Amino acid sequence: MPRSYVAEARKRVGPKKQRIRPVIDRLAIEHADAAIALTFRSPLELLVSVMLSAQTTDVNVNKVTETLFVKYTTPEDYLAAPQEELERDIFATGFYRQKARSLRGTMQMLLEEFDGEVPRTLPELVRLPGVARKTANVVSSELGNPQGVVVDTHVRRLSQRLGFTKEDDPVRIERDLVKLVPREDWGRFPHLLIWHGRRVCIARAPRCEDCVINDLCPSSRV
Ligand code: SF4
Repeated sequence: MPRSYVAEARKRVGPKKQRIRPVIDRLAIEHADAAIALTFRSPLELLVSVMLSAQTTDVNVNKVTETLFVKYTTPEDYLAAPQEELERDIFATGFYRQKARSLRGTMQMLLEEFDGEVPRTLPELVRLPGVARKTANVVSSELGNPQGVVVDTHVRRLSQRLGFTKEDDPVRIERDLVKLVPREDWGRFPHLLIWHGRRVCIARAPRCEDCVINDLCPSSRV
């Protein structure tokens, strides 16, 4: 889009600080069911699911964890099984060698430093082997203690289209979003964008005519 059109569109919808509240409110009504798509029953299962979800779909992870979580219920279980056995059990999630190594390292640290419990804060979570900032953000947020805004591919695309950020790097996008999104919405905001991105603001063909925030979006095609 030429620069003049972008500037014109931004002017039409108004400043992002004024748009963020109605965007969140309308998406919350439209996607009232927006929630994490991973299946888990405990903080440990949440952590494992999120670690396994790297480079694969949530549906795929849920299929694997359905049996995995019957066999492995404690950090000790992950350490008791030989590495190769754990690799076979998580094979279908891809990158299984690296993921098995990370899982075992994480379980070791949980036992040695956290009394076998999953920590709640970002600085503690990112110390766990194989747990990057995004994983830590998802886990702390789902455990009711969001410490930032999770930025995945949908959040990145929609934040850019909505003019909430001009950045491309997830860490910089998050920096923009934590300044813009009210703290009480840090947990649900990514879910709203993810579900809107899956259902309406699709990567290749956004359905702007069906979008409940098209009058607030500088990239709207209607
Ligand atoms: S108006 Fe179009 S580009 Fe903007 S958020 Fe809606 S679907 Fe996406």
